[in-house]
Amino acid sequence: MSDSVGSKCGLVALIGRPNVGKSTLLNYLIGQKLSITSRKPQTTRHRILGIKTTDDVQIIYVDTPGLHSRNDKALNRYMNKTVGSVIQDVDVILFVVDRVRWTEEDELVFSNLQQASCPVLLLVNKSDLLDDKEVLLPFIDKISKRRVFSEIIPLSALKGHNVQELEKAIVHYLPQGPFMFPAEQLTDKNSRFIAAEFIREKITRQMGEELPYEVAVEIEEFREISGILHISALILVEKAGQKKIVIGQDGKRLRLIGSEARKDLERLFDIKVMLKLWVKVKGGWSDDDRALRSLGYD
Ligand code: GDP
Ligand code: MG
Repeated sequence: MSDSVGSKCGLVALIGRPNVGKSTLLNYLIGQKLSITSRKPQTTRHRILGIKTTDDVQIIYVDTPGLHSRNDKALNRYMNKTVGSVIQDVDVILFVVDRVRWTEEDELVFSNLQQASCPVLLLVNKSDLLDDKEVLLPFIDKISKRRVFSEIIPLSALKGHNVQELEKAIVHYLPQGPFMFPAEQLTDKNSRFIAAEFIREKITRQMGEELPYEVAVEIEEFREISGILHISALILVEKAGQKKIVIGQDGKRLRLIGSEARKDLERLFDIKVMLKLWVKVKGGWSDDDRALRSLGYD
């Protein structure tokens, strides 16, 4: 831990509806792959902390699940609760929007900002896709009349445009204080959790539109034996049909998911990985609070 005089440390939340680019931005800011990105919305269900430490500044990023306008399942209730509690205990909020595309879901997230007392930075992401920058001014004008933002920053999380400027702004608003985590620590989630997220990302990539929304990954074994990391993971789906899809013809798809995930895990943990994947049907868990808790969504 650092207790150097003049150091800055704080929690920074990324909020915004699904698909605006929160995970992409987090990955860029951290400079290492920790969060999950995908063309499919709603892949980030957990609060993932990415920690960036440089000299005398420690920024702890909180990636939140997207807010949902349909609030009819236990999983969605969990996600909404996460957003509410995150907003109240952070030092800076990054409110991410997709250019000037303001939807009902943005409005929902925006209304949640009323509970925030810390500085809120509005990030107008995907600026690289804006052909006509002229549309920005009226948008900024309109939204500024509804709420005061500490900064409004157009940027591209994908290309990295203006991300350094964003980082400077974040540091500016960060409170003085000692580091909360050792400087070398990347995340406060344990490695098991990261492994599960990596596997889930590969499933998402492999399946695309076929992906059963309620897929979850549970790590059963995570053990290093003589220089090899043995990981066994359960892929939980809701229906027998989904199990077939994940496994694929002659197990082809599951093998592909496994080998892709293994490569990433070996790179991340810097060790040889033996990965075993199983697919299991667990009907209806997303509608059952108790089952959610047992899967670690508490
Ligand atoms: P999240 O749901 O808010 O975490 O969004 P993601 O980070 O998963 O991004 C959703 C999609 O938008 C992905 O396909 C990203 O590659 C894409 N994306 C994110 N940021 C940008 C950006 O600045 N420019 C462009 N062109 N695409 C982006
Ligand atoms: Mg995400």
